[in-house]
Amino acid sequence: MSKKRVLVTGAGGFIGHHMIRFLKKKGYWVRGADIKYPEFSSPEEADEFLLLDLRQMQNCLIATVGIDMVYAFAANMGGMAFVTNVKADVMRDNALININMAESCKVNSVKRVFFSSSACVYPEYKQLDVQISPLKETDAYPAQPDTAYGWEKLFSEILFKSYESDHGLEMRIARFHNIFGPEGTYMGGKQKAPADICRQVASAKNRDKIKLVGDGEQTRSFCYIDDCLKGIYLLMNSNYNQPLNIGSDRLVSINHMTDIICKISDKQLGIEYNPGPQGVRGRNADLTLCRKILKWTPKISLEEGLKRTYHWIDQELKKRGSIRKKIKAYA
Ligand code: NAD
Repeated sequence: MSKKRVLVTGAGGFIGHHMIRFLKKKGYWVRGADIKYPEFSSPEEADEFLLLDLRQMQNCLIATVGIDMVYAFAANMGGMAFVTNVKADVMRDNALININMAESCKVNSVKRVFFSSSACVYPEYKQLDVQISPLKETDAYPAQPDTAYGWEKLFSEILFKSYESDHGLEMRIARFHNIFGPEGTYMGGKQKAPADICRQVASAKNRDKIKLVGDGEQTRSFCYIDDCLKGIYLLMNSNYNQPLNIGSDRLVSINHMTDIICKISDKQLGIEYNPGPQGVRGRNADLTLCRKILKWTPKISLEEGLKRTYHWIDQELKKRGSIRKKIKAYA
């Protein structure tokens, strides 16, 4: 039997390059596409890796030629500071990527597409308290996402569903809730809270202060990458074609997560609280539907996931430090 041919877009990014590894282990033929190569792994982990700007239609057509299934992760995105401050580029880039990808899948007769939506689609008015009720999929409407990024995800959910109803493109849609783990961006402005705090703690000396945005009491739930990959795969291979939460339903404050990371590091650190974009006050995932449809919930605890992430970032920083030293020695 010939191997199924899969395209992973956003393959140079965090979830995309982990997905390539996961799908290769399952025996698929995998093409990766991204505007950049993966920062922390080799593009050769895919059978083919195409450097393409997927905002352009001709590049989406090239990416989808001869493909049975697409995992669509490509997006211009980052942590809360990035998606709060950058609105127009996020809207334009992501809408272009998704419009051109949907149309190319139609033209090239792709059978099934996984679209990575986000918990950011949920309305701000349901997320005003730290102890909020977990968000169910039906809570997305009446819509009022708090960011342009969230509005674009909602638009693209409907875009892909329109291609399903008019052109038979089979859609699978996950709304991710804060996915984290090793080999994700941890500096440069696009990093998310777990990686950012791990980096700050790993770089700090005992009794230093790390910086948090807001009062640290804002709450979220976090899902480790290995669990997320399993959830994605189960959803892609299920018959369920409506948006589904993929995440964890363990609500923690950013202060609590910071404590866990400090314990892992064995450092005594202070915290400096600064004003800045912190997103909604509280957000948690209701996994009732996910349990029912996929028989899946995350297995890796926040403590274990943070331990793996912290140690990976710590090692990366040490590698960077030793390269800097070598460069200095030659200067
Ligand atoms: P990421 O930023 O690490 O990966 C996104 C990738 O898309 C990057 O490698 C980037 O280069 C690529 N990309 C951006 N513009 C492109 C273009 N014009 N052409 C080709 N490639 C382009 O992000 P991630 O964390 O891996 O997220 C993957 C997907 O999941 C995204 O769609 C994101 O919105 C969604 N999501 C992620 C989370 C999370 O917690 N990580 C939460 C909700 C939703």
